[in-house]
Amino acid sequence: MEEAPQPNADFIVPSTVDVNPDTLTGKIKGDLTINVQVPANAAEFSNSSVKLTINGQTVSADVSTVNKGYQVKMDRREFIRALDRQTGDVDVKVSITSKTGEIFVGTDTVNVQMLEPALSVKEADSVKVGDSFSLTYAVNGTGDNVSSFEINLNYDSELVEFVSVEPLVKKLNITHTSKQPGQVSLVVKGTPNHFFNQSDLFNVNMKAKETEASSTDITLTDISYSTTSKEVISVADVIQSIDLYNDVAKITVSGEDGGQSIDTNRGTLQLLSQVLPVNAMQTVEWSVTDLDGSDTDIASINSDGLLSGNTEGLNGKVKVIAEAMDGSGTVGELIVDISNQLKLVTGTPFGKNPPWSPGSEFDKALDGDIDTFYDFSEAAGGYTGIDVGEGNGVVLTQVRYYPRKGFTQRITGGKIQGSNVSPTEGFVDLYTITSEPDSGWNAIAITSEESYRYIRYLSPDGGYGNIAELEFYSAESLIQ
Ligand code: CA
Repeated sequence: MEEAPQPNADFIVPSTVDVNPDTLTGKIKGDLTINVQVPANAAEFSNSSVKLTINGQTVSADVSTVNKGYQVKMDRREFIRALDRQTGDVDVKVSITSKTGEIFVGTDTVNVQMLEPALSVKEADSVKVGDSFSLTYAVNGTGDNVSSFEINLNYDSELVEFVSVEPLVKKLNITHTSKQPGQVSLVVKGTPNHFFNQSDLFNVNMKAKETEASSTDITLTDISYSTTSKEVISVADVIQSIDLYNDVAKITVSGEDGGQSIDTNRGTLQLLSQVLPVNAMQTVEWSVTDLDGSDTDIASINSDGLLSGNTEGLNGKVKVIAEAMDGSGTVGELIVDISNQLKLVTGTPFGKNPPWSPGSEFDKALDGDIDTFYDFSEAAGGYTGIDVGEGNGVVLTQVRYYPRKGFTQRITGGKIQGSNVSPTEGFVDLYTITSEPDSGWNAIAITSEESYRYIRYLSPDGGYGNIAELEFYSAESLIQ
């Protein structure tokens, strides 16, 4: 059970907020005032506050009570920081939590035309090992009269080395000292004009070492600037993450589980690549050729490295190639032996309609789509097959079929049959499916050596013709 709310505890009281001045331009100096007027009917508010937030950030300020509310006097710099470097018309949400738990909340809009100086970085986000690179640092914000910056530059000395620092503004004076590996102290001196005539201040020139690391951070920490009036102001760290990469030097190709062959009709083999070094581009482009490098019809490979046989009954060795995609030209190869591929028999579909409902006619078992299926209108007597054409005949070697999903039991008792008479008469049983098959693809071997023009699947009683896909294969070409 929820506790009953306590009177005046954590109770939000909408109030009127007024920031003075409501336009902030020029340099960040001095205080500003925020008046928070509480509603006339608000509960009596305590004469001291416990918490002041601006846009959700807790800030410190001098808060006093006045008639009908609070008055806040606070440092402009702290106020500007709470606005998170927004400029233009900025909505400022002020909340004051009283000691007795009321939260007085209101919003004012302030036009901000000043920014506290801060450093930022650009360039060099991806570097090849062994290459030199530069990081360009800029100063943003003219809200103070900057006369110098002091900065610690930090990097992983195992991965990169410091080369030099170079001013991008005339007469800007930069000195650097290094007390320990991976850290360089920079002092950047100039006049306010030097800092703000253009935003790019200096380049730090570095070099990536030979490494297998794939990224590194280069950070500026302990940053402070001094003003012409001798104030020293700390500002935020600057982090640059750099991707390190190398050329592909070696690719090793292997089959999943060590496989180096496809020895079942319509079988597949998943090829895998190992690319070195590890910070080189790991993706490869797959292709397959004859052993002499010419195009092959024996096998095909998709972009994920899945190798498949063919439907033409072609067998033999092929060469699988994984090529680096970084332009290095590095390749890896594996010879794969393809055997037991059979020729897919094609012909004109025939079968028995009407279907149970439109879209599940007999030819849906012959459309190459495992999600469509034959669904006859009656429980018994449904069949679907192909006619290989007048004067032709085929000796079946194998039939592959895919049951209707969720209805594998409707296959049990189904038959593969052949006829040389007509699509409806003269059929001879070539195979009977005597037990419930697997969901997914099933393959059955046909041992009859007779040739037939009409070949079909005859659904058992109670089977409703159900079958999703049916493929007939022969080791030989059509007999004419
Ligand atoms: Ca289908």
